[in-house]
Amino acid sequence: MKSPCAGCGLSDGGDCCQEIFNEIGARAHSDPSLGRVHRLIVDTYCLQHPPYIESAKSFAAHVLGVCAALECANDPLLVHRIHRWLDGPARFAKPAVPEFRGAVTIASVAEAGTEPNVEPEKVARAVRNWARSTWATYAMHHALAHRWIGEMMQR
Ligand SMILES: [Zn+2]
Repeated sequence: MKSPCAGCGLSDGGDCCQEIFNEIGARAHSDPSLGRVHRLIVDTYCLQHPPYIESAKSFAAHVLGVCAALECANDPLLVHRIHRWLDGPARFAKPAVPEFRGAVTIASVAEAGTEPNVEPEKVARAVRNWARSTWATYAMHHALAHRWIGEMMQR
């Protein structure tokens, strides 16, 4: 019996979250339905796993990635500004990562089906559902993300 993941809490006795994440990452190259949502998968996975957001910049990158996807439908201008804004040195201290990072894990995406023939919208819905659940646990940082976005869009 494996102990639950310290990041996302997953413990189903099956594949661990890292294995699922690697598997999805490998498939995303050849499966367009996964490729389209792969960025959001990576950002959400990182928000649930503190070792991936240890620096202020990686924290901001993944917080802003999820925010842009869920709240701004990945507006290309915003995504461009985010990349540029992250390019310089970090001008802020890293905020605290929430203790509880949601009850939904990447296993829900695997359950939705990662076979090549699965309905693409079903996978995308599962990814968005997982991302929204995780993003909700970051509620204390939503205002900060919106302020960063406000700053970068003024340049
Ligand atoms: Zn995990």
